[in-house]
Amino acid sequence: MPGPYQQAPTPDPYQQAQPYSGPMEGCQICGAVPAAPVTVRGHQGMIVVMRSLRRKGTMCRTCGLATFREMQADTMVQGWWGPMSVVITPITLLINLAALSTIRRIPEPVAAGHRPPLNPGKSVFARPRGILGLVPLCLVLAVVLLTVIGMAAGSGEGDGAAPAVKVGACAGAPSCVDPWSS
Ligand SMILES: [Zn+2]
Repeated sequence: MPGPYQQAPTPDPYQQAQPYSGPMEGCQICGAVPAAPVTVRGHQGMIVVMRSLRRKGTMCRTCGLATFREMQADTMVQGWWGPMSVVITPITLLINLAALSTIRRIPEPVAAGHRPPLNPGKSVFARPRGILGLVPLCLVLAVVLLTVIGMAAGSGEGDGAAPAVKVGACAGAPSCVDPWSS
C-alpha cells in the first residue's frame, strides 16, 4: 500500500493486482509463476518540488527486471534536479540495486501467465537515459569525493597552522612580557 506521498497521479497498472487465488502466487502483471514480492523505487526532482515513486507487487523475474530497468533509467535522468533530490537519488538507486538482487533470485518463469510479460529490454546502461544519467551521477560522485578530500586537507592544515598563530599572537601582544628581562 503506497503512502500518501508516494502515489503517482497517473493510473498505475501495477496497482490493479490480480486477486490471490491458489497455493502458488503468480506475477500480478502477467500471471506467470514463480513470482515474488518486489518493490522498485523511483525519484523525480523538479527544482522546488520532488516526487518519490514506488512500484510494489508480486512479480515474475521478467516483469521485475523490466520494472527495475525502467524506473532505474528514469531516476537516473529525472532524479537529480533539486537540492534534496541530489541526496535522495543516489540512495534510491542503491535501494533499487538491492531490489535487483531479489529479482535475480526469482527463477525463470516455468508456467506462462494469462498475458505476455513486460519487455525487460536493454540493461540500464545500454539505454540512452541510463547513459545520460551517468553525467549527473559522475558529477555528484566527483563533488562528494572533492568535499571529502577538501575536508581531509583542511583538517590537516588546521593542525599545522595552530602553533604558528600562537607564536604570532604572543609576539604582537603588549602583555606578552619576557619574565627573565627584569
Ligand atoms: Zn510477469
